[in-house]
Amino acid sequence: MTLSCRSPWGELKAMWRRRNVHSNPSDEDLKQLQQVMVREQIAGRGITCKNTISAISAIPRHRFLPKEMHGIAYDDSPQSIGLGQTISQPYMVALMTSQFGHLPKGSRILEIGSGCGYQTAILVEMGFEVHAIEIIPELFEFSKNTLRALNLMPASLTLADGKRGKADSAPFDGIIAAACGASIPHLWTEQMADGALIVAPVEDENNQMLVRIQRINEEYFREDICGVRFVPLV
Ligand code: SAH
Repeated sequence: MTLSCRSPWGELKAMWRRRNVHSNPSDEDLKQLQQVMVREQIAGRGITCKNTISAISAIPRHRFLPKEMHGIAYDDSPQSIGLGQTISQPYMVALMTSQFGHLPKGSRILEIGSGCGYQTAILVEMGFEVHAIEIIPELFEFSKNTLRALNLMPASLTLADGKRGKADSAPFDGIIAAACGASIPHLWTEQMADGALIVAPVEDENNQMLVRIQRINEEYFREDICGVRFVPLV
């Protein structure tokens, strides 16, 4: 969807450019930008999952970015969060989250590459039992502080290599990854409950594909969702 200059989003951005408040938006500006983001980037692009939309509407995305980046927190793009990592584009977070929208509260979700913690917060807000893993100590600390301050701590947040999954909390009803490897680590598939889903990017001949894998009994069914661009699973 293109952003028309007549949309509230376009107007707000133009206002920011005129008033130069991009680097110092008020709480009211941020609230409005969040509402416009949900309407135009999420609902406007076909995400219909109510649980996803209400979680994304409830979580202040700017709190997961440094203060000087608050003004661009609701932009239609991924943002650098330092250390070579990115917070995913809001639409991508919504698209991935919505794959789990049918799961009841209390479902157990493993999140690999929790980064600044925004996706973690969305999953916690949806009532899931979230086990998040991040490999970079600075991001792990930053996300822990933010999630604690917002009262959105997951069931566990671990500084570790997520390729190993988390055997002591398995089996999971869902596994979500925001970093891309050449294949899905076999420990993830081993840690799936029957009927569980993995939503993750996978590298195919230099292109990345967001895939959805469902386990039914001992069989795994893969569906391609769309082409994507994520940081590497190290
Ligand atoms: N959803 C996150 C996206 C962060 S980008 C957010 O909202 O911020 C992907 C993250 O995956 C990075 O923080 C990176 O450090 C992490 N990562 C990469 N390889 C990993 C691994 N093997 N184990 C755990 N985390 C990993």
